Amino acid sequence: MNVSALARQLKVTTSELLEKLPSLGFDIGARAIKVDDNLVPKITAAWKKQGKKERLQHDLSKITEIRGKEEGADDEKKEKKEILLGDVIIVKDMAELMGLPIARLMGELMKNGITVSLNERLDYDTASIIAEDLGFKIKKSNIHEKEETSKREKLEGLLSKRKAKDDKPPVVVVMGHVDHGKTKLLDVIRETNVVDQEAGGITQHIGAYQVTAHDRLITFLDTPGHEAFKAMRSRGGQIADVAILVVAADDGLQPQTLESISVIQKEKLPFVIAINKIDKENADVERVKQQLSEINLIPEDWGGKVICQPISAKFNKNITEVLDMVLLVADMENLKADDSGSAVGTIIESHVDKSAGPVATILVQAGTLKLGDMFMVGDVAGKIKSLEDWLGNKITKATPATPAKILGLANLPVVGEILEVILDKKEFKAKLKASNKKTKTGNGHSVTSDGNNEETKDIATLNLIIKSDVLGSAEAIEESLGKIDIPETKIKVLKKGLGQITEDDILNAEATNAIIISFHVKENKSISTLADEKKVTILYFDIIYKLLEEVEKILNSIKGKKTIHKLLGKLEVLAIFKTMKKSMIFGGKVVEGKITKSSKIKVIKNDEVVAVGQMTNLQSAKEDVSEVALGQEAGIEYQGDPVIEVGDVLEFFEEIYE
Ligand code: GDP
Repeated sequence: MNVSALARQLKVTTSELLEKLPSLGFDIGARAIKVDDNLVPKITAAWKKQGKKERLQHDLSKITEIRGKEEGADDEKKEKKEILLGDVIIVKDMAELMGLPIARLMGELMKNGITVSLNERLDYDTASIIAEDLGFKIKKSNIHEKEETSKREKLEGLLSKRKAKDDKPPVVVVMGHVDHGKTKLLDVIRETNVVDQEAGGITQHIGAYQVTAHDRLITFLDTPGHEAFKAMRSRGGQIADVAILVVAADDGLQPQTLESISVIQKEKLPFVIAINKIDKENADVERVKQQLSEINLIPEDWGGKVICQPISAKFNKNITEVLDMVLLVADMENLKADDSGSAVGTIIESHVDKSAGPVATILVQAGTLKLGDMFMVGDVAGKIKSLEDWLGNKITKATPATPAKILGLANLPVVGEILEVILDKKEFKAKLKASNKKTKTGNGHSVTSDGNNEETKDIATLNLIIKSDVLGSAEAIEESLGKIDIPETKIKVLKKGLGQITEDDILNAEATNAIIISFHVKENKSISTLADEKKVTILYFDIIYKLLEEVEKILNSIKGKKTIHKLLGKLEVLAIFKTMKKSMIFGGKVVEGKITKSSKIKVIKNDEVVAVGQMTNLQSAKEDVSEVALGQEAGIEYQGDPVIEVGDVLEFFEEIYE
């Protein structure tokens, strides 16, 4: 059997297999290509046995680590090795840094669903989670973390000025390991506990919802964070009052369960544990309790203080009990907020709506947010033009712990940013002025194609359109992309959006020569066909470092190449037949060179490029043609800003890397 085939079976790389075999007692040579068929079952068995051993060792070391934290065991802390992690690290370098066998590290990565080879790169978030799981202390001066800390300090500063005197509903965050049933639990709570929802009524997903239990409101954060981003997950912890930790009864404590526990402990969040999937045959609630006890979380019925509620989210079993527990915990916390005065809150979701523009969901944390309020969110200014609750009902105000969808933002705010209502007009104007200056330098989420020669003179530019399942992911991707540094190249994110790739995205990508990066978004057949037709590349990813690696590859391939606009010909516009929102149909005469069907069009007025668009169809004598020569007349369909007028001389060009 080929070594590579065996490696595939064992879900490792060939080099790793070769490296590890001697330690398992099989020395077949570091460069072996084939392995004796008789040895295959023995190697497989030894490999699996070793994997199990490592997992056990890992669990033990994790439990010891958490225990150490619990008991404040300074001695143990001192022993824990600190490692310095940068933005990205190559797997084998990371193993060396930690002084661990590569197989150990790769095994740990695999347990977290990450299959990589020795030379692949890990982004900081992934690397740090794994390193922490392996019992290391991570050090890094991370800009992202600094930003999070400054946002937190800002929020704390704003809230500390308020007198928390009014009752407020608890804000609940659901945490736990992937696949343990967080989404299912959130769904079942939403479906069964909403009172004023019309039968079959459409609810909107705005990142949070409210339910009623015992005539009391409870707010649930419903932000599906990507598992690789610790920062995103811990965000919930900063604005929530109570956590529900979901642990699957058939799977027990897993790395992300432990990580959630450390977030909960760091944030000092009161919590209840929902032991889920008790309907399953192999469910073992006692085993989960045993594991919890081992890390000093002693369940109530074992004489401790930790509330554990066995549930089945799938079969709606004991869900009311979980809500009761949440209310109980909330009551013990005596949650209060200040209802009066100007509002302060946190943005928990944001996206650009095609017709409404930037839309965000805010969770109000103090004061009352009202229609017409002027506000700042980071650098983004706005005036509340519309307020909606999570069911889509128009509301006029939102009090603490109320999630509300807001319209009236000048730009797209960052998730996690603090919204502050500013009642003083002068102060608002001053802040607005300052922010306008900043935003002009562009965080543009909807930049139109501008690819003029000047911009791309010496540097090869890779235009990207990012589509992701949640905006937080798109942000994290954009931030990570910003850290890629390949000389003579640059990345330009033309647009980032949520959800499925649309026809518009494809046309946009075609017009701007962009690649569409899709993260956690499912492939759609008709869109793929359209993309093929338009020669637009869509890349699908589920793991961020794969995405970064691919983008780096592309950058390296275009490196040193300039984006050249090769002039094909010019046409004088003689008639406009139709003007639409983002397209036009017009006719004219070729006055220089020739024009071809796939060319791009530059609209020039007073020596300035005012728009760049894409030809989508070319006709001559009412027939579709692929090119029109000098002196002939042509009918053209154009996609782009509809600014073309009779008399304009348009330039037709091709974009090439040279
Ligand atoms: P998440 O990754 O934590 O959000 O997990 P999900 O809510 O997506 O659930 C993962 C899988 O477990 C899905 O297939 C669910 O249908 C299933 N699941 C969730 N809760 C239960 C439960 O109580 N019992 C059973 N049998 N399956 C469940």
